[in-house]
Amino acid sequence: MSLNTQILIAAVLGVLFGFLLTLFPQSTFFDVGLYGIGIASSLFIGLLKMILIPLIFTSIVVGVSNLQAGGQLSRTWKITLLCCVTTTSLALILGLTCAHLFNVGRGVDVVMFQDAMAQHQTPDTLTPSSFFTNFIQNTLINPFKAFADGNVLAVVIFALFIGVALVAGGDSFRTVRKLSHQFFDIMMLMIGWIMKLAPIGIFALLAKLIATEDISVLSRLAEFAAVVTGTTIFHGIVVLPLLLWIFGKMNPLTFFKGTRSALITAFATSSSSATMPISLKCAQENLGVRPQTAGFVIPLGTQLNMDGTALYEAAAALFIANLMGLDLTLGQQLVVCATAMIASLGAPGIPSAGMVTMIMVLQSVGLPAEAIAILLPIDRLLDTVRTVVNVQGDMMISVVVDRHTREPEVPV
Ligand code: ASP
Repeated sequence: MSLNTQILIAAVLGVLFGFLLTLFPQSTFFDVGLYGIGIASSLFIGLLKMILIPLIFTSIVVGVSNLQAGGQLSRTWKITLLCCVTTTSLALILGLTCAHLFNVGRGVDVVMFQDAMAQHQTPDTLTPSSFFTNFIQNTLINPFKAFADGNVLAVVIFALFIGVALVAGGDSFRTVRKLSHQFFDIMMLMIGWIMKLAPIGIFALLAKLIATEDISVLSRLAEFAAVVTGTTIFHGIVVLPLLLWIFGKMNPLTFFKGTRSALITAFATSSSSATMPISLKCAQENLGVRPQTAGFVIPLGTQLNMDGTALYEAAAALFIANLMGLDLTLGQQLVVCATAMIASLGAPGIPSAGMVTMIMVLQSVGLPAEAIAILLPIDRLLDTVRTVVNVQGDMMISVVVDRHTREPEVPV
């Protein structure tokens, strides 16, 4: 049985087992079951996390250092950046439009959320200007500290520097380049081993999600959740495939077939970073993206390109404004879009990261940061779908970039 089939079966069984657990709350069966799936999911996630930093580092170094002569480096950069900004902007527009269309949050009694609001602890204030300062302070740091702290963005920046230096040094750095290639190959071999555990990890993660989510709390926010989920799925199955078809000349069905295991892992882990090793493998092995393109675009995209997160943050800001009875002006909505784009860039690819950077979006138009408490009960649920689209966007961009850098005559 192929790994893809095993993952699919495990996902279905995980959901069923999660529901089974909810039928026996406060029983030994529930406790033992939850403990078991807790261990299994931590094992899988732990292994993925363990490999993440060395993998990101080597894949970016290898990716950038492979982009030799012919201005290919700048071409790849430009196309990647253009794709990221375009897809994120479309996601933002879609998020705001659908939130307007369905009038999310209008007519809901805010009093019913007062409990949640009272319990919420406001994190440190995050304004756009302090966001930039923090961004610089946290990324341009001692690389050894970044490695030790697992500061992915700082590792990405340092790896980019080394990659560019290897390109600039040309043949004189041949040995280091070869070493990085070999180190990267070792990482890929280890990912292959870890992936053998994916069906167990995904079974456990989905069962845990179903068994621990509070259904009665979720129902209060059902309308907003449905709109955001529907819009995110629309972005994932209509907008992105259309762009892929037009600019990447790839049949969307081929894409979905080849990326299934990465998409399901994204759904189950709610983490683009944890999924990155699998996205990389899918892009290279199933979509035919050259290793130098995949090794450059996917780790960067994992950090910086988050369509699902941007869409969610824009729609959520409008939802909160509607709950408070505020009408955002067009100018304020543009500020929401710009801030949501920066917030999605700054959100690391871990579960609920978008919830933290969401504060910045709310504050940009004077909405209280405390209002995120309203969204907390449904965040884990929405995170699953937005992470899938985040991951999908990265793999899709890698296909488009690969095509346009492989054939220099194709106009961009
Ligand atoms: N969980 C998302 C991801 O890893 C980030 C977010 O919270 O929006 O892509």
